Amino acid sequence: MFIDIVKKVFRVTKAVTQKRQAVVDVRHHAVRPTANYRGQHTVDYELCIGCDSCNKICPVHAITMQHLPLKKQNIVPEVNLAVCIFCGLCEDVCPTTPDKAIKLSGGRFDMLTGGLHANQQDFWVHADIPQSYIDSRLEEEEAARVKKELAKTKREAIAAAKKAEEAAKKAEDNNDGAQK
Ligand code: SF4
Ligand code: SF4
Repeated sequence: MFIDIVKKVFRVTKAVTQKRQAVVDVRHHAVRPTANYRGQHTVDYELCIGCDSCNKICPVHAITMQHLPLKKQNIVPEVNLAVCIFCGLCEDVCPTTPDKAIKLSGGRFDMLTGGLHANQQDFWVHADIPQSYIDSRLEEEEAARVKKELAKTKREAIAAAKKAEEAAKKAEDNNDGAQK
């Protein structure tokens, strides 16, 4: 009995006094995430086709779609990391190949910030689309529109010429019939 008490006191004393490192401040350590590590997202706006799948599947509504003044690619995702639970579903569901337009794997690890309200922008992954990209896509869309319009005009002209030719042939046939 006495021995048990001594052993217990010894164990508790050892546990209380032994030097331990309970928390590692990763900001001061080199951390090498594995290939499948679900770190901070990256959004490749050039790959994104604006399908909205990542936004729809997100279980905690951490994704907001940024609207672009484009016809085809009119939305791209932005992620609120303060809400995200890093489930990786957005990356899984992204249909672009061979690379995903939204990725967590191999992303940034150093997401620690100075404080909850220090800088709200620290918690967002923005698509950061340069105006030059929007301008060049707008030019492409305009060129495609003009090309489509020209093709339509050409088709209509061919159809009208064919119709006129048929009408002339019919009139000629009628004339021949009347003369006989
Ligand atoms: S990792 Fe999960 S929670 Fe975070 S944005 Fe993607 S789908 Fe939403
Ligand atoms: S990131 Fe992927 S899933 Fe999300 S809108 Fe773009 S293409 Fe679709």
